[in-house]
Amino acid sequence: MGKTYIVEHLDDELGQWSELEYITIARETGNFCLSSIPSTLKLPQELKDTPGFVAETRGVEEVYGQDPALKARVCLLDPAAKQELSPEDGELFDVFLFGGILGDDPPRDRTSELRKKGFTGRRLGPKQMTTDTAVRVTRIVAEQKTALDDIPYLDFPELKFNDHESTQMPFRYVKGDDGKPIMPEGMVDLIRKDSDKAIDDLF
Ligand code: SAM
Repeated sequence: MGKTYIVEHLDDELGQWSELEYITIARETGNFCLSSIPSTLKLPQELKDTPGFVAETRGVEEVYGQDPALKARVCLLDPAAKQELSPEDGELFDVFLFGGILGDDPPRDRTSELRKKGFTGRRLGPKQMTTDTAVRVTRIVAEQKTALDDIPYLDFPELKFNDHESTQMPFRYVKGDDGKPIMPEGMVDLIRKDSDKAIDDLF
């Protein structure tokens, strides 16, 4: 059975960074639901138009939390879970749930907001991933049946913009065939613009 990937919206807004991540998740999974969207939040048109994307105003607890049999099929990807995700979990779970939180350094454990709701948790190793990376790794393990430790990763890669400018990303990524971290289309440009803005703001 096809898996469903849910990101529960937990931030106040949905910025460009999240937009690029969510477009990528919808494209890669073909079955992506962004839940708990406030009715006042205007979703970016490109995201709404991406095939595989579904917007849901109800929270995940309302959709899956009421029926124990349904709830047992939901796995929360939780950096603080005791057990790592394994290929066998692909048989146990139909729905994979992620926190709709931008990565932060150091991590503030906002996934705890979902942990409190009592879904079964699994960890994707000890390092913080971006949300699209966490979904990608979950698919590789649960659907493609590759063990977590056999996935090629790049930890805290440095993005070099030119001879003078670079920035280090405080996350774990999957290493692509080209040896670079797999990132959403447009993300490197967005990070470059954000870092230029941060430098401009200093003056
Ligand atoms: N700093 C965050 C926090 O406050 O919990 C982590 C945010 S991370 C960018 C977004 C989501 O990706 C998390 O809520 C979790 O579902 C998933 N995630 C990221 N790294 C993970 C890991 N190592 N193990 C399990 N889930 C992870």
